[in-house]
Amino acid sequence: MTDQLRIELRDGHAIPQVGLGVWQTPNDETGAVVATALQAGYRHIDTAAAYQNEKGVGEGLRASGLPREQVFVTTKVWNDNQGYDNALKAVEGSLKRLQLDQIDLCLIHWPAPNRGLYLDTWRALIKAQEAGQVRSIGVSNFEVEHLDRVIGETGVTPVLNQIELHPRFQQKALRAAHAERGVKTESWSPLGQGQLLSDPAIASIAAKHGRTAAQVIIRWHVDSGLIVIPKSVTPSRIAENFDVFSFTLDAEDMAVIAGLDQTDGRIGPNPMTATF
Ligand code: NAD
Repeated sequence: MTDQLRIELRDGHAIPQVGLGVWQTPNDETGAVVATALQAGYRHIDTAAAYQNEKGVGEGLRASGLPREQVFVTTKVWNDNQGYDNALKAVEGSLKRLQLDQIDLCLIHWPAPNRGLYLDTWRALIKAQEAGQVRSIGVSNFEVEHLDRVIGETGVTPVLNQIELHPRFQQKALRAAHAERGVKTESWSPLGQGQLLSDPAIASIAAKHGRTAAQVIIRWHVDSGLIVIPKSVTPSRIAENFDVFSFTLDAEDMAVIAGLDQTDGRIGPNPMTATF
């Protein structure tokens, strides 16, 4: 099996750098998809309560026959469950659906500033970590002001922030802020939800290396020190997206991809204004 890379987190644990994302994967297909990925060598699955497939993730994990400690499972507390008591209940619900004793990493899915509850939710994750229900705690879609508020009020820094990040939206300022605070960066929609796969600059780098566009983009995340969770339900693509450890991009490739960044390259919602 490929000797995959792992990223050290500030709490002493480590996360496999390439994982499988399962957003929009129907629960009844998720078990098979997860088992396929684990067979292909993945050891990291990214789900969320909102994806309604945590049950399938647990089933796939058990079907793989792998020891529990070999697979890293991330889930997230949804916006409706923000607040101290609700978030603690949400963690219990996720543990039950996943049929696990402990979640490797639990994130606040969105800061949802309109709700005004992310600080209380963060305190709940600290409590769940103390209780051993969750091993590492982090956030998703946080901007610097949200990060600084939870760090300043609790003294506990999220291990990572999972944010929209791909060659067309490279988030350089937020990544620099993460580095200053010891927060790792995890890229969601790393392939731009597939939209970047037809980019001519990516296609030309792929042709040069005899690789696919998806592999070039995933390798760009890896070479940039990012944790990356591409999604696919197709077994051949799941395998292709993980087969990125036997080549690297050169300085010229990295410069070309750096040039694809756009200030308005965001595909998903803006965390400051999203009201769901
Ligand atoms: P992605 O960028 O991973 O793109 C996935 C799409 O690209 C697939 O549906 C498929 O159409 C295509 N694709 C994948 N591999 C391919 C290949 N080898 N060849 C051709 N086409 C291929 O998009 P995503 O699902 O939005 O993001 C990945 C994961 O990030 C999600 O599954 C989820 O786990 C996470 N995520 C988190 C948040 C958040 O708010 N925290 C938001 C969105 C996504």
